[in-house]
Amino acid sequence: MNTGSCLCGKIKYRVRGALGDVRYCYCEACRKVTGSAFTANAKIPFEKFEFIEGKNFISVYESSPNKFRYFCSQCASPIYASVGEEPAFVRVRLGGLNFNPETQITAHMWVSEKPEWFVIADDLPQYPTIYDGSKN
Ligand SMILES: [Zn+2]
Ligand SMILES: [Zn+2]
Repeated sequence: MNTGSCLCGKIKYRVRGALGDVRYCYCEACRKVTGSAFTANAKIPFEKFEFIEGKNFISVYESSPNKFRYFCSQCASPIYASVGEEPAFVRVRLGGLNFNPETQITAHMWVSEKPEWFVIADDLPQYPTIYDGSKN
């Protein structure tokens, strides 16, 4: 089954269907919320994401106007993000998945905010800020 969870295991969820396009986002907010160089995000229809348990442990932080980051209130694991303009979609954080999804990495975004200590070593398209008209 295509499940994911937070680090402490209180939140468990499943995703249905293919995850499709995955973007790596280097924006300052993604860096700070993960403590790493980027987030790996798949934008999927909200209806394909389902909590199995622990939804009550979700906390949300509005990191910029209309941009919401959902995380575990116990262990701080990022679960997904959403933006107000696109309520029908969630941006699932791939690190929480318990399986290797069939997916395709399509772009590096917010490369203008990428730290110099991380070097991109592939030929995928790089975008200085948003990609595909989409925040992440
Ligand atoms: Zn947790
Ligand atoms: Zn970002």
